[in-house]
Amino acid sequence: MRTSIATVCLSGTLEEKLRAASAAGFDGVEIFEQDLVVSPQTPEDIAELAQELGLTLDLYQPFRDLEGVDEALFAKNLRRAEAKFALMRRLGMTTMLLCSNVGTATIDDDGLVADQLRRLGDLAARYDVAVAYEALAWGRFVSEYDHAWDLVAAADHPRIGTCLDSFHILSRRTDLETIAGIPGDKIFFLQLADAPALTMDVLSWSRHHRVFPGEGSWDLTDFLSRVVATGYSGPVSLEVFNDSFRQADTYRTAVDGLRSLRWLESRVAAQLSAAGEDPAAEGASGTALDLRPLPEVAEPRAVDFVELSTEDLGTLTRQLHQLGFDFTGFHRSKPHVRLWTRGQARIVISEIDSAALEAVRPRSPGTYLRGIGFDVDDADAAMHRATLLHAIEVPREQSHDEEVLRGVFAPDGSEVFFHRITGTAPAWIREFGTDTSAQTSRIDHVNLAQPASHYDESVLFYTSLLNLHAQPAQDVPSPSGLVRSQVMSSADRSIRMPLNVAPVHSELIGDKARAQTSADPYPEHVAISCDDIFEAAATARARGLEFLAVPQNYYEDLDSRFDLDPDFLGRLQEHHVLYDADASGEFLHFYTSTIGSVFFEMVERRGDYRGFGAPDAPVRLAAQYRRNLQL
Ligand code: MG
Ligand code: MG
Repeated sequence: MRTSIATVCLSGTLEEKLRAASAAGFDGVEIFEQDLVVSPQTPEDIAELAQELGLTLDLYQPFRDLEGVDEALFAKNLRRAEAKFALMRRLGMTTMLLCSNVGTATIDDDGLVADQLRRLGDLAARYDVAVAYEALAWGRFVSEYDHAWDLVAAADHPRIGTCLDSFHILSRRTDLETIAGIPGDKIFFLQLADAPALTMDVLSWSRHHRVFPGEGSWDLTDFLSRVVATGYSGPVSLEVFNDSFRQADTYRTAVDGLRSLRWLESRVAAQLSAAGEDPAAEGASGTALDLRPLPEVAEPRAVDFVELSTEDLGTLTRQLHQLGFDFTGFHRSKPHVRLWTRGQARIVISEIDSAALEAVRPRSPGTYLRGIGFDVDDADAAMHRATLLHAIEVPREQSHDEEVLRGVFAPDGSEVFFHRITGTAPAWIREFGTDTSAQTSRIDHVNLAQPASHYDESVLFYTSLLNLHAQPAQDVPSPSGLVRSQVMSSADRSIRMPLNVAPVHSELIGDKARAQTSADPYPEHVAISCDDIFEAAATARARGLEFLAVPQNYYEDLDSRFDLDPDFLGRLQEHHVLYDADASGEFLHFYTSTIGSVFFEMVERRGDYRGFGAPDAPVRLAAQYRRNLQL
């Protein structure tokens, strides 16, 4: 599949955009006119640079407001078009995007529009270029792709085809059946964008909130499959207008974009294979795109371990002991690495000094979540897939007699490892000694803080690499702003990872002293399951745990909502345990104080409760806020 990206998706100068697209591995780019207009380089320079970089220049865009106008204005518009055709020749480009008229169209007459498109086609032929006509969702008279296609068909000109843009089509919920009726060779260009489900005017939605496939709420797999079935053979291009992307690192955004296309390509290829077709075959099976699948990976089965790095070993390990964890041992060849376990919940602690921390991850000094190990069916396939999705491997040393543990960096800089657990414990545990923990705990969920600028990238990362599913996003109120929260989970919920975007001034939530030196102090947490929350709380109290204080008002509200047995309510309050329930079960949990940027949560799930105590999250955030400000 040939991949392309519109330069408008990326930050930087035109030259920076081209270099980033090439470095990420795109085959081509769409040149967004504004990027060229502000560039000091001549069109010939740009053409030469693209050639050097191995990029094709796939689409010149946009050309606006041509059709549906009176003859005098149309003559002027043709003159405008002719200047652009001449410019495209200098760039060595052959396809121009024409957007349906939004402003100057005064005549709602399909016959006239078809005639004007045909005359544009005659002019295009003289310059040996072609025009792809796209229905903008907010076009004056033409706003649906099937209407644009009808006009292209009526124009019946070899230089006039249509451009399908998933945003304009899916945002209007247009029936997709018509796509099957468009001959692939009359689709001159294909643009893909995903978007979050929002209720707002479609123009603002389009200009500010588009995201890459897999980062929003639409089914782009279905959409691309439909276009593939037409025999379309051109590039599959990303056209994403997004305020964050346009501020983010150019190369990073380009990699994020290419990852979305590779993932989508693989999903369509897998669908074709499942239907008994050869996704890489040309013509015969209906696809001309040479779609390549990624190695298939099953969803992870469990969290194998969580690794925390700390400068504050005493405080951290004391808290683990308070939570009922046992010290399993030191790593036999890395004495700064220790393992603590509580049943199947394994916490690897690496002790570091401040100087080393700076080099590893300039995040929250003190204590931070360094990585997560996942129990996967096939670690080699997972690693291979991750590499094909442009993830960077974590450099790691191990001696010949140690387990080979491979992993990649997640967008937030944390590490993601793949390992297959056979039997009751992972093989790597031998390197620490013998696991004697008799508890039946596991890691229930890991709550990760994501910088707002990398949030969409993170959703795609966990979706595409680990096969996790993004649940609908929620906003959780905190004293310093709304926290956006979205859960990534496996189908059987054995993996649960809420991703949080902290408010801009989140240092008010995190450890204030640390916040002076850290850009990302919003705390992350590891939740451990247990069979008996009251027993766990009693043990923790006996061992001196500092619980996160829960106010009396919370328990009064709880009583009003659930009409709880007074004894039970009293026990909850006495043990600082929070409570939630839904139709399928109950959730009891307590929180520890925060160390560095990490705290723990102990949870007991009763019945088939699947949530995370969402109504309790604001109580927790407020308590952390008070504690950190010592209010
Ligand atoms: Mg478009
Ligand atoms: Mg939690």
